[in-house]
Amino acid sequence: MKKRLGHPIFQVVSDIIEEQGLTAFAIGGYVRDLLLKRPSKDIDVVVLGSGIELARQVADRLGIQNVSVFKNYGTAMLQYRDVEVEFVGARRESYRYDSRKPVVEDGTLEDDQKRRDFTVNALAISLNRDTYGELVDPFNGLKDLKGKTLRTPLDPERTFSDDPLRMMRAIRFATQLDFAIGEKTHRGIENNASRIKIVSNERIMEEMHKILASPQPSVGLQLLEQSGLLRHFFPELAELKGVEVKEGLSHKDNFLHTLKVLDNVSKMSDKLWLRWAALLHDIGKPLTRRFSGEQGWTFHGHDYVGYRMIPRIFRRLKLPMNEKMKYVQKLVLLHLRPIALVDAQVTDSAVRRLLYDAGDDVEDLMLLCEADITSKNEKRIQRYLSNFKQVRRKMREIEEKDRVRNFQPPITGEVIMHTFGLKPSREVGVIKDAIKEAILDGVIANDYDEAYRYMLKKGEELGLKPAEGE
Ligand code: ATP
Ligand code: MG
Repeated sequence: MKKRLGHPIFQVVSDIIEEQGLTAFAIGGYVRDLLLKRPSKDIDVVVLGSGIELARQVADRLGIQNVSVFKNYGTAMLQYRDVEVEFVGARRESYRYDSRKPVVEDGTLEDDQKRRDFTVNALAISLNRDTYGELVDPFNGLKDLKGKTLRTPLDPERTFSDDPLRMMRAIRFATQLDFAIGEKTHRGIENNASRIKIVSNERIMEEMHKILASPQPSVGLQLLEQSGLLRHFFPELAELKGVEVKEGLSHKDNFLHTLKVLDNVSKMSDKLWLRWAALLHDIGKPLTRRFSGEQGWTFHGHDYVGYRMIPRIFRRLKLPMNEKMKYVQKLVLLHLRPIALVDAQVTDSAVRRLLYDAGDDVEDLMLLCEADITSKNEKRIQRYLSNFKQVRRKMREIEEKDRVRNFQPPITGEVIMHTFGLKPSREVGVIKDAIKEAILDGVIANDYDEAYRYMLKKGEELGLKPAEGE
């Protein structure tokens, strides 16, 4: 069966290997995606011989200046039009127990296919003229592709022990492609789960991001939990799993609830960090779980505890400790606040404060809160949703009136210092804060003149006098 290769680079490679008497194949993810009719941004070419040599010749022919050579890996990469093309010499790999860096020797095409993680990633297509487009499939990858199953070409125990990152990749592909993991392959993951410790958190997180970016991320998180992988690199999340019963009362399984919220958010938004916020919104629950005869199960303060846990988690997992983390923290901290605004008695001041605290992320916060409704009772869901509609309406009204969403207090520290002839000092902060609070509480309008008068009053209370000339 001949396959049509979809990119002009293949004809160029084909011409060159024909002239040089070489043998080469398209292989790996590109072939998989081609057969699945998925778009693909990178192409892998394997050659019996030197991948670096072949890359140089292809670059010469196409007038490409930049070839990135990775001598240690025997690979070279070039950018051609819209794709990255990587060239590698066919090779055989053997592993030592303590490292995922293999010892590499030259090998045949089949050796090279054996070193690949899954049968569907080991498919090769010939680039030589007389066999151009023919599929080379010694491990029944095509069958697995059609059956939507991930299986390792060799014994899964060995494949996963050699390079434990493959376990993460299995779960990522299962989630991304909506494939099942073969039974033996799944057992291989269970048995080797603890080996994930030799993989760096950066690499694990690359796969986590891809799982979270998938249409239904819960698929991957369930697999991570069930296979035992999750607790090795993300114990805080694994801790959410389970229910306890006391005096006949149980609480919901917070892991399953979290996954539901994550999927709900994912239906509404592609934002990766909003999905992270959904994943972590209840992360403080295990530490705050209490039982009492009067109240049953409670998780008081889990929003704040979760907020506090996030920097440590991000640092350990090598996630970015920048505004992305702050955004996740903010949503986790605020995720209960809109619920408190449902009450008809709620004051404008409470709404104003939430608008101020959430700033531009208020839309994402509302999405998270709506996703957080995971009741099984359809009537109840509808009631909650309509409550949130009212909250949104209140927010709109107050924002239109008071413009507090991104407000900067109209009186700056400079004005305060100038007015009272102060140097930077505690008093300046106290007055500035008092003005902000007065605006949020609705005591004064968000307006320069009112704020100025209020500043004078506050200054006087502190025993300050306007400087000469003011
Ligand atoms: P994607 O590009 O969507 O992440 P991919 O399968 O193309 O998926 P790449 O990292 O681009 O993944 O790798 C290309 C090919 O290299 C894979 O299809 C697979 O054949 C092989 N490969 C990559 N990583 C591994 C690994 N850890 N173990 C074995 N083979 C691997
Ligand atoms: Mg790829």
